Amino acid sequence: VAHVGFVVDGQPYVIPTLFGRCENTLYLHGSAASRMLRHLETGAPTCVTVTQVDGLVLARSAFHHSMNYRSVVAFGSSRLIRDEKQKAEALRIISEHLIRGRWDEVRIPNSRELSLTSVIEFTIEEAGAKLRTGPPLDDVEDCQLPVWAGVIPLALTCGDPIPDPQTRPDQKIAMSVAEYRRRLPQQRNVTATNTGTMPFQPTEILELEPTTSRRQEERLSSTHPLESACRVRYD
Ligand SMILES: Cc1cc2nc3c(=O)[nH]c(=O)nc-3n(C[C@H](O)[C@H](O)[C@H](O)COP(=O)(O)OP(=O)(O)OC[C@H]3O[C@@H](n4cnc5c(N)ncnc54)[C@H](O)[C@@H]3O)c2cc1C
Repeated sequence: VAHVGFVVDGQPYVIPTLFGRCENTLYLHGSAASRMLRHLETGAPTCVTVTQVDGLVLARSAFHHSMNYRSVVAFGSSRLIRDEKQKAEALRIISEHLIRGRWDEVRIPNSRELSLTSVIEFTIEEAGAKLRTGPPLDDVEDCQLPVWAGVIPLALTCGDPIPDPQTRPDQKIAMSVAEYRRRLPQQRNVTATNTGTMPFQPTEILELEPTTSRRQEERLSSTHPLESACRVRYD
């Protein structure tokens, strides 16, 4: 899920929405009546953020509690896609981002459906990424406190698919659904480390600025990655 931030008449909005990505372009879609999409099609400055939460970081002190996460904040401008072919391709990219392989299994949108749907192309002009991994970073003097500290890993998992009540009796489960279940981690396999990829993986990391303090850094071995922020490039 992406959160799209924009300002209309001085009022900021942050709206959750699906997205798809191809290089430095994000695709957003929805009802042609949507305030968000009607505003974005004017080319107004926009900010899109995507966050993945990987764990709760529980320290011995209240102060050092944190979360393990990967997040991207991207700035850019948008335009409305008018061409039917480009629109269908953008919708395919969104669909493939949501669940790979689904587009080829379903009836694709017809002209009427396309006319009821607005599709926006958001070009990433500047982006920053930030992630935190690893254990809590308690002050040395707190490490012997009789308090449990560590990480509760969190991950997106999926349950058993529930067929629509109108499903034909002879209908087999879709390949895309079976594949989706196979790829998502099962609850028992969730570990304290994340997959290391950003919500939408940049082409290049331009600068890495560790935000962990020097004192904390000195205490960490190289196997404990630091919290870091960076400027990233998408193309
Ligand atoms: C996981 C997820 C995925 C979504 N994917 C899409 C998508 O791909 N395309 C799409 O068009 N819409 C999507 N939506 C719905 C989207 O968040 C908006 O509700 C919708 O686009 C209408 O936006 P609008 O600008 O017209 O809001 P408006 O109708 O102008 O909003 C009216 C009021 O409702 C509030 N509001 C708007 N959206 C929400 C919300 N989701 N939750 C709580 N309050 C809200 C606004 O702040 C405002 O006060 C998704 C929502 C979620 C949670």
